[in-house]
Amino acid sequence: MSLVGMCYDRRIASREMDDNGLVPSAMFVIEKLQKKYNRYKIEGVADNTFCAVNIKSSKKFEVDLVGKTCACRVWQLTGLPCVHACAVIRPRREPWIRYVSHYYTVESFRATYAGFIFPLENEEDWGKLGEADRVLPPPHTAQPGRPKTLRIREEDEAEPSSNRRCRKCGEPNHNSRTCLARQVAKEKARKEKAKKDNTAKRKEVAGQLNVNVQQQKKKARVPTAPQTATVRSSSRGGRSGRGGRSGRGSGFGRGDGSGRSMNWWLGGGDLPATQ
Ligand SMILES: [Zn+2]
Ligand SMILES: [Zn+2]
Repeated sequence: MSLVGMCYDRRIASREMDDNGLVPSAMFVIEKLQKKYNRYKIEGVADNTFCAVNIKSSKKFEVDLVGKTCACRVWQLTGLPCVHACAVIRPRREPWIRYVSHYYTVESFRATYAGFIFPLENEEDWGKLGEADRVLPPPHTAQPGRPKTLRIREEDEAEPSSNRRCRKCGEPNHNSRTCLARQVAKEKARKEKAKKDNTAKRKEVAGQLNVNVQQQKKKARVPTAPQTATVRSSSRGGRSGRGGRSGRGSGFGRGDGSGRSMNWWLGGGDLPATQ
């Protein structure tokens, strides 16, 4: 049903209602509740305050007829008397309208639908808008800076609170990513890695040196033996200066680092597996 039709129908229906009465929906609720009046025993407390005691459960509900309140709070919330209030009011044989919010009166109902709403014409019959009548949004211009993502708080609003703590050290105001303890550990790991890399590089250089020596040896093997000896001594000298270090720490030398294994590499004399 359209809003226009609904307002009309209710306006007509309200003509049939009792001028000084309540709307049918309110009366329906009250009729239902007042049938349960014999479930409560009424005790007087003050002039307009009573106590409704449930006969079965002995639960008590204080009903104030002037303030229109009940301890169960249904009366205050709905504006219609609750079952306890109905049990108190019924024997008094007073009009219910005295104990009901004025929004449930026929008078209010009529006032609600007193105005008229006229229907709109069909869309096809609406006038056409010219291009000049069209309302467009203003052109968008990007403002400098990153758009804000934090809500602007009221002046009396509390600062955002958080009990989050760093998982690494347990301190507030930072997280494990920005933790100082983590950064220290990272720096340490970085240094260790650099050291390792350095060692590996040295090994490589030493290995390269060995290859060079072998190549030199190959070349040297073609001529006579005395020349081999020259090569040997010269390369050995170079190794004791530089490669000796790597032979110590990394186990590269495979021997005792004294140059004995180097002799083997060079094909001169001692066998490697003599230790
Ligand atoms: Zn109640
Ligand atoms: Zn931390």
